[in-house]
Amino acid sequence: MCGIVGYVGARDCSDVLVSALTKLEYRGYDSAGIAVFDEDNNIKTVKTKGKLKDLVEKLEREGKPDGHVGIGHTRWATHGEPSDVNSHPHSGARVTIVHNGIIENYIELKEFLISKGRTFLSDTDTEVVAQLLDYKYNGNPLETIDDVMAELRGSFALGIMFKDFPDRIYAVRRESPLIVGVADGECFIASDVTAILQYTRKYYLLDHDEIATLSGDGVQFVDEHLDPIEKELKTADWDMEAAEKGGYPHFMIKEINEQPDAVKTTIIPRIKDGLPCFEECGITLEKIKDFKNITIVACGSAMHAGMVGKYVIEDLARVPVNVDIASEFRYRNPIVGEGDLVIIISQSGETADSLAALRLAKKKGAATLAIVNAKGSSIAREADMLIYTLAGPEIAVASTKAYITQLAVVYLFAFELALAKEKVSAAECKRLVSALMRMPEAIKYVIDNCEEKCKYISTKLLTADSLLYIGRRLDYALSMEGSLKLKEVSYIHSESYAAGELKHGTISLIEDCMPVIAVATQTDIIPKTISNIVEVKSRGAKVILVCTDACARELKEGVADYVIELPHTEELLMPITAVVPLQLLAYYTSVNRGNDPDKPRNLAKSVTVE
Ligand code: GLU
Repeated sequence: MCGIVGYVGARDCSDVLVSALTKLEYRGYDSAGIAVFDEDNNIKTVKTKGKLKDLVEKLEREGKPDGHVGIGHTRWATHGEPSDVNSHPHSGARVTIVHNGIIENYIELKEFLISKGRTFLSDTDTEVVAQLLDYKYNGNPLETIDDVMAELRGSFALGIMFKDFPDRIYAVRRESPLIVGVADGECFIASDVTAILQYTRKYYLLDHDEIATLSGDGVQFVDEHLDPIEKELKTADWDMEAAEKGGYPHFMIKEINEQPDAVKTTIIPRIKDGLPCFEECGITLEKIKDFKNITIVACGSAMHAGMVGKYVIEDLARVPVNVDIASEFRYRNPIVGEGDLVIIISQSGETADSLAALRLAKKKGAATLAIVNAKGSSIAREADMLIYTLAGPEIAVASTKAYITQLAVVYLFAFELALAKEKVSAAECKRLVSALMRMPEAIKYVIDNCEEKCKYISTKLLTADSLLYIGRRLDYALSMEGSLKLKEVSYIHSESYAAGELKHGTISLIEDCMPVIAVATQTDIIPKTISNIVEVKSRGAKVILVCTDACARELKEGVADYVIELPHTEELLMPITAVVPLQLLAYYTSVNRGNDPDKPRNLAKSVTVE
């Protein structure tokens, strides 16, 4: 998501910035801009909504800033719609910046600056940082940046220019990525190495809260106490494609690793005073409180996110939820109409069946809500209400980070609806929201602690002809996604089953060594699922159990062949962490079978045909 670049050197700065930004296009963006010191040492900014070609056209129309020091940006809007004015760079009187990330406390900082007489042009959190830098500017850029950093909460990578220092740019980061590249007589900043590989392979990794100064004299680094530091110069040995994958062998595993950030980016702007807040999406408590029935319509993983939504909405808000496959819904005269809400979930926002389902629901008089990742897509444009998942571009065909952000949105919406229906108190809702806010950390923990085990277990699945995924309630909804993931990328047949339903037929499939992946995260029904595990185990199945650490502690010897333990989190939210090992199992099984997990055979990313 989003790209930052910066340049100091002898080349034409505007050209370098635009060219470097094109290498970051794969990250996805909705607007672009550059700022360059011109011949008179004034900062000239050109920015526009749209693509880099729109920026290039604007530069041709308005005149390209002629200079050798500057910063550039491709924006993936989080605060404020994609528009010319919200595009970066943003400025205060003496400072111009580009920013990647989210400033979580921007509202209080903005209120403070307004009380000091500052006015704002854009809706972005970024402009608050520009104005704060200007407000605190004391003639010493490093001290000013340090001072401002101490006030900021959230994630940021910043490229900064001070009007008084036209020979240099500054760079700093916390959480969001940023590297500093160096070559003979020139230096660069970039969100990743891809952007600058055309100029140099030498780069430094900027650590959290370190500040880099880039000038004609090269690059200097200081730590948060402004003490100079030496850093190790690295050499990129990736080709362009590998660099775009940020050093990961495949987009799928890169995107699995991006999930903590994706969830955080998706939920933070939708939380206000500890409660869900979708006002920016046109959703208020008043507007949703009277819906009597909800239908969630989607395809593939998005439909599985809807299945989780069904359990959570019904449990918390006590509204009946029907989940439907879009290609079925559209051709069967569904019973929806006025007073009903139809939720359409789609990563691309162009899924043909889902789009048709949306149109049908509207025609029948239902209110519609789209949960979509791709900005400005057809489903996003046509729905009455819209919540974007802010997962960034998902390149791998099999969905991971888009699915998990769909879950995050569905949860937040369920909390909001429960509040609107007065089924939970504000205090309980706040408790649930704060549990959701802890999930990014929990996802990261699971990736860090389960990856090796999943890799190992996947070697036991390679030769299987068929697998079963079982679970109950939320665990069943999740096992559907686990099964689909495995099918998509490993080409091994699998099915997901409600654990209690096995003995009504499917258990006849179990034979010696057939892998069964069981999910058990819901305390009250764990004993029931364990009984089902024992049933398949005693018929020869090899059981891989994904469960809470508490469940693992109480497990009798020999119940499961392999156990993947998940940390304790709010039980209702367990699918958010439990999906991670299922994704990793699918990924490593695919890789170990010699498949390309990013481009599974026969599949397309955006299914725009019915
Ligand atoms: N939060 C900032 C904005 O909405 C930066 C977004 C980005 O990382 O592109 O403008």
